[in-house]
Amino acid sequence: MDYQGALEEVAAAVQAQIGQGQVAQYIPALASVSADHFGMAIADMDGEVYGVGDWTQPFSIQSISKTFSLALVLAHGGEVIWERVGREPSGSSFNSLVQLEYENGVPRNPFINAGALVVTDRLQTLTGDASTVLLDFLRAESNNPNLAFDPSVALSETDHGDRNAALAYFMASYGNLDNPVPTVLQHYFWQCSVEMSCRDVALAGGFLARHGLRADGTRLLPRREAKQINAVMLTCGTYDAAGDFAYRVGLPGKSGVGGGIIAVIPGRCTLCVWSPGLDARGNSVAGVAALDYFTTLTGWSVF
Ligand code: GLN
Repeated sequence: MDYQGALEEVAAAVQAQIGQGQVAQYIPALASVSADHFGMAIADMDGEVYGVGDWTQPFSIQSISKTFSLALVLAHGGEVIWERVGREPSGSSFNSLVQLEYENGVPRNPFINAGALVVTDRLQTLTGDASTVLLDFLRAESNNPNLAFDPSVALSETDHGDRNAALAYFMASYGNLDNPVPTVLQHYFWQCSVEMSCRDVALAGGFLARHGLRADGTRLLPRREAKQINAVMLTCGTYDAAGDFAYRVGLPGKSGVGGGIIAVIPGRCTLCVWSPGLDARGNSVAGVAALDYFTTLTGWSVF
């Protein structure tokens, strides 16, 4: 497979979509990013990386981090996390409160904000320093010791984090958080603020394509749990657009409001695309278009 040729064809095909949509406004530090960026990378099973456009430029990974924190919770604590969070699509926006009351403070899945807060809480309990454990893992897997949090993004989100605080306090009232709400929020905002490039993200997600094996060949997760994360990405990774993402792209994927999307082709490769213009559901317009084009071109959708 000519990965480089495929990436260049994809980039040319989505030119008209780049700059479409709106950059996330509710986190002021993200609102100043230009919508005109586009980058895409593929990491193969051996850790060889191919890229096009702005694929080495760091961006705010935001909710892509939820994939990694879930993997680390499973790696440290096993499947008991599923007593605290469900694994059904929510059909609601990523920051929705409404279902929590009907489900006694147990979020529908680990990728909506409520679910990710529960996962971060578990990671904090299991490790004592959730955001640092996450950053260390990302540095190791992407072979990039320079990866860092962006304090301006983390603080900006802290200053405008009323919705996430509401979610966390509401779940705490049902006893679904172990740690104090401010601690959980702090780790969650810092984990979302990590700056990574498409190259870094594609490499860091390699364990999902390698059925649980880390970049150094050691096992992070049993095959079963790697399979399960990919399944939850497919059904819940793009929130209330998960059906449309499966229809267009047909891969496990996880988006973030920084405009990045990670997608996995199990047994073959991991992709990351970044373009900051978002659709109404918070997914990158050009990013989804690029993945749609890629899986049609290669026939590598899981469908
Ligand atoms: N940090 C963002 C938030 O909590 C993440 C949302 C996202 O990327 N979808 O709102």
